[in-house]
Amino acid sequence: MKSFKLLPLLALLTVGAQAQNREVNVICSAQAAWCSMIAVTFEKSQGIKVNMTAKGSGEAIAQLAAEKANPKTDIWFGGTGDPHLQAAEQNLSLDYKSPTLPKLHDWAQKQAAQSGYKTVGIYSGPLGFGYNTELLAKKKLPVPKTWGDLLKPEYKGEIQSANPASSGTAYTMIATLVQLMGEDKAFEYLKGLHKNIGTYTRSGTGPIKAVARGETAVSISFVHDGPGEKAQGFPLDTITPADGTGAEIGSMSIMRGSRNLEAAKKFYEWALTPAAQELAAATLQFQLPSHKEAKVDPRVPDFRKIKMINYDYAKYGQTAERRRLIQRWEKEVNSLPR
Ligand code: PLP
Repeated sequence: MKSFKLLPLLALLTVGAQAQNREVNVICSAQAAWCSMIAVTFEKSQGIKVNMTAKGSGEAIAQLAAEKANPKTDIWFGGTGDPHLQAAEQNLSLDYKSPTLPKLHDWAQKQAAQSGYKTVGIYSGPLGFGYNTELLAKKKLPVPKTWGDLLKPEYKGEIQSANPASSGTAYTMIATLVQLMGEDKAFEYLKGLHKNIGTYTRSGTGPIKAVARGETAVSISFVHDGPGEKAQGFPLDTITPADGTGAEIGSMSIMRGSRNLEAAKKFYEWALTPAAQELAAATLQFQLPSHKEAKVDPRVPDFRKIKMINYDYAKYGQTAERRRLIQRWEKEVNSLPR
């Protein structure tokens, strides 16, 4: 008798679980065109609806921390790796060891290992400068070749960077400079740079888009964003600073408390396949894919030709370190007049 009474309840639970896993809620911190392509392709090929929200890396971690008690997000796809490590430290993300891990590049596996398998590297790309070739020529400005060049008075008002509180790109810049120069010198540098900044944008890709469209001459950006703008016909080029630069390890995490865990795992595994990773280049995004067998477009920056620092992801992905550096930047740099 008892088991009969349980049946409708079991049926309801089963239907509920099935309904749950028919959709997946994704925060996407990569470029909009790639995010949309991923959503459409996953939905078509896997029959699981993707509800996607676009958020910069800094904004994403703030939202995920705010919804910790009542998580609404299943997957956080893309964005710089430091805030993904921070999510892992705060236990916002779920540990999951993908069977695909051994097929990923070492840097992507290392990102997973040092988060306790709560995140994974999906792409990488170096930080550098974007510049508008026509605007520089018109204003008789040289191409900046080092971090130091950006402090020259002739670039006053001509440089755009993103704001590190909302953008992972801009936080990568601060962490890179701190590692390159030592913290106090880096902050002196950032104060000097501040005088030349026309606008701090919310999103990390804003500055290079402004360069492409001739709204500013120079940007501090991930250089893998350059070829896409160029391919659309804009007079833009990129360069990496000769004195050294950092790189991001764009990452992906499954959120703890996901209500569509089965669908989230399907999305995660799919996103690690070479075919899914190659969708980046199809939308003119030229990060280095993390799967060793994914095709590497010739427009992907060649790390072997760039002077890279040995970026300490474990240190700069710590909540306390990121918070401290951003607060110091707000207090000592962003509060200054320009
Ligand atoms: N767009 C691209 C192409 C990126 O590589 C990244 C970093 O992963 C982002 C956007 C992140 O944007 P934001 O700096 O706004 O966090």
